[in-house]
Amino acid sequence: MTHVLHRQIGKDYPFAVCGEGVHIYDATGKQYIDASGGAAVSCLGHGHREVIDAMKAQLDKIEFAHTSFFTTPALEELADELAAHAPAGLDHTFFVSGGSEAIEAAIKLARQSAVESGQPQRRHLIARRQSYHGITFGALAIGGRPSAKRDFSPLLIETHHVSPVYEYRDRHAGETPEAYGERLAQELEAKINELGGDNVLAFIAETVVGATLGAAPPVPGYFKRVRQICDQYGVLLILDEVMCGMGRTGTLHACEQDGVAPDLMAIAKGLGGGFMPIGALMLSAKIFNIIAKGSGAFQHSHTYTGHPLACAAALAVQRIIRRDNLLANVRTQGARLSRRLQERFGNHPFVGDVRGRGLFQGVEIVADRGTKEPFDPARKLHARIKQEAMARGLMVYPMGGTKDGKSGDHVLMAPPFISDNDTIDQIVERLGEAIDTAIGS
Ligand code: PMP
Repeated sequence: MTHVLHRQIGKDYPFAVCGEGVHIYDATGKQYIDASGGAAVSCLGHGHREVIDAMKAQLDKIEFAHTSFFTTPALEELADELAAHAPAGLDHTFFVSGGSEAIEAAIKLARQSAVESGQPQRRHLIARRQSYHGITFGALAIGGRPSAKRDFSPLLIETHHVSPVYEYRDRHAGETPEAYGERLAQELEAKINELGGDNVLAFIAETVVGATLGAAPPVPGYFKRVRQICDQYGVLLILDEVMCGMGRTGTLHACEQDGVAPDLMAIAKGLGGGFMPIGALMLSAKIFNIIAKGSGAFQHSHTYTGHPLACAAALAVQRIIRRDNLLANVRTQGARLSRRLQERFGNHPFVGDVRGRGLFQGVEIVADRGTKEPFDPARKLHARIKQEAMARGLMVYPMGGTKDGKSGDHVLMAPPFISDNDTIDQIVERLGEAIDTAIGS
């Protein structure tokens, strides 16, 4: 580890030497349950032979052909596959290599379509506080975690922020989930009016919030109202389904469960299941037609846009998920995971909330269940939980609380779609031990 800039310098990382199904094995032969799918990536688990064979078959044909010269069957078939199962109208796709790139493409395409439809004054972006949309400059700028931006300001684009849907902490006592959603939608509308309805380009939100809030789902009706408000003011709705999309919540796209279709949608992690780096921006026919009639080209491309090997891997992953009806398993095992977590933590003195959708579940740790006061972030409890979980052969995705006390440490789970009863039960058992040991130490 001498020549690598690892995320945490000086820390020893175990060598991952092989993977099979829901497990990863390190160099000592120790087995880990991949209960976080890495970071909600490995939806088919590890080492799936059919995906590997599809990738080999692609390599036997051609490894790379630049999209300024060629298209490829893998690229076209993947775009067809996505269009066939897309939310209404979202039937065009631009391929990239990951989530941040998909978000960058979304911001740029939104802007280009505003300019080319004669609305160049639309430049304000509205996102939500406590959000994460990626690590590149544009994506970082729209994100809503000040601590992530601190070292990099001033950022290139100024973004305005409204409240996320965070029922556990922000829904008032006596307020129905529907009334809470309405209150948040009104906050968005007020922000649009403050900026001037004609000046706002887009509103961006993660359908189910992953990393920053630990699988926090929207309340019923929230996105329908957001959609209405965006339509009323001509504001584009961009959904970030990089983490929560591609089947993770039990439907191919999380927004299906909210009854809305965005204008632009970023997808990534589960699209290629970790077999290759791939992400995509899905766009509505409306935006496609603006560009087609305007300059005739999206003014944006990466060298690896539509990489044939990445597309072949993603196509195989998506076809296997469909053929094996794995979304039904996501729903069944997601319900089991939620139930088991409730049983284990429902009365736990330091777990304030269990939440999520499908195989996308989170628990929030608090120092006091009554007041919901988080533990002091300086204690880095989330890092201790991760360490204790790894010691027990369990990978979960923990995140620290915020210094302002607006969220506590939480643990996100996103196990592979092939998980069975035993996997789910083992996850909860080991997580319980890891949390108890970390808090007790
Ligand atoms: N958006 C969301 C919601 C994410 O969770 C992530 C990654 N955690 C990203 C964007 C950025 O994706 P990537 O790390 O592939 O650039």
